[in-house]
Amino acid sequence: MKKMYINGEWVEAGSGQTREIINPYNQEVIAIAAEGNESDAKLAISSARQAFDQGEWRKTPAYERGKYVNKIAELIERDKDELAELETLDTGKTFVESQADMDDIAEVFRYFAGLADKDSGEVIASPIADSSSKVVREPVGVCGQITPWNYPLLQAAWKIAPALAAGNTIIIKPSEITPLTTVKVTELMEEAGFPKGVVNLVLGAGNTVGHELAKNEDVDLISFTGGMATGKNIMCAASGNVKKVALELGGKNPNIVFADADFETAVDQALNAVFFHAGQVCSAGARLLLEDDIHDKFVDALIKRVQRIKLGNGFDEDTQSGPLISAEHRAKVEKYVDIGIKEGAKLVIGGKRPDHPVLQKGFFYLPTIFTDCSSDMRIVQEEVFGPVLTIERFKDEEEAVRLANDTIYGLAGAVWTNDAAKGERVSSSLRMGTVWINDFHPYFAQAPWGGYKQSGIGRELGKAGLEEYTETKHIYRNLKPEPLNWFK
Ligand code: NAD
Repeated sequence: MKKMYINGEWVEAGSGQTREIINPYNQEVIAIAAEGNESDAKLAISSARQAFDQGEWRKTPAYERGKYVNKIAELIERDKDELAELETLDTGKTFVESQADMDDIAEVFRYFAGLADKDSGEVIASPIADSSSKVVREPVGVCGQITPWNYPLLQAAWKIAPALAAGNTIIIKPSEITPLTTVKVTELMEEAGFPKGVVNLVLGAGNTVGHELAKNEDVDLISFTGGMATGKNIMCAASGNVKKVALELGGKNPNIVFADADFETAVDQALNAVFFHAGQVCSAGARLLLEDDIHDKFVDALIKRVQRIKLGNGFDEDTQSGPLISAEHRAKVEKYVDIGIKEGAKLVIGGKRPDHPVLQKGFFYLPTIFTDCSSDMRIVQEEVFGPVLTIERFKDEEEAVRLANDTIYGLAGAVWTNDAAKGERVSSSLRMGTVWINDFHPYFAQAPWGGYKQSGIGRELGKAGLEEYTETKHIYRNLKPEPLNWFK
């Protein structure tokens, strides 16, 4: 039984309700989790509020706070295999990928631990005689943090580490279908010894627990990673007390390949860009834009490689991709494939569930490619969040940039070319938070992550990721106070 962690205690839901947590590889129940509701969320918020107002944590020197955050990194490294196993059971992703996630997660905690005491404020050259002026950063307060199911612990780490390093108190709410690693890391945070009420964990659905975190006026900041429609809901709910809002939403990310790119590498990475983790990646390169000259050869090469992608159990060493997360999500992917066919896109491979008997219990779907796509199609515009690639063609640089920017999203994109100047020109024309030149997917704790346009608000990771969890205060001091005599 996975419990919630409120005010330093492990508790069941007040209502006694529970939820079965399912392995998407075989639909077996792998755990039972408490299913909290608004009342449980309110208790967690009040615990975080009290801990923040009482002030022990925010007044702990930043250097010391960094040590606590570093301790989490050490404990994650100690329990890496257990965490990776839980993540694979819960999401179906390969164990090797989960292990790599855990390495990244430990690095995120280390990075923010190191950054905790690096901002000592800024002295301003005051324009007023006999005065001093400085700018300092302070924690925002009580932070609600809501995460999705595709990278359960990674997304949680991007929020927990900077929030704690900056001196805030938190209530974390993982996706109700993938809570296991977040529960485990909360145990590790308990072991690290944070003061009571600084770290709180609530479990349950988005429209109950999540909505309460977004709406409640005792919460000062809501940080959300998930779908765009949910993000818009959260913004509305958050407006009641004008709390700070940080949103990491979806993407429909272009992968632009020019004819002068290294062909084999671009083909290999185009596969990785979209089919990694069955396409359930916010930065998936789901829109491939190919220069006319290489289009046919590139499509042929992709089809040959796609046929060899091995779907299976994430714990088998030869598995390259796991299942989709749930029956509902697979139904959504199937709906989009139907839409693509009706819109006139040409299905060249995939477009169905695998036939293999071993895969029938899991939510598997074959890697799928559409050619002859155009930017007026929904299959090109909307986030499918599955193993579905759309291919468009372009004739020159100007058209490539226009097509790449032609969605409401702006999370990430890539350009492949051996012409350095062209790579620079294109990257500076893309309206996206991350652009890769001759690569796809790298991200790391040192660089900011987030979206332009409707892909979000704010940034995680990097220095900006810590600043997100701070308020900026200007402190002005008059060194020679005298009466003004304005009012005679
Ligand atoms: P989702 O929006 O359905 O759910 C995300 C979280 O929000 C869950 O914890 C859920 O319980 C909660 N939630 C749902 N309704 C809510 C409500 N009304 N109020 C408050 N909370 C609510 O998203 P998902 O299906 O879990 O995740 C997939 C989405 O996440 C994709 O769109 C993907 O692109 C996005 N994503 C973005 C990034 C990024 O860094 N930009 C990273 C990972 C995933």
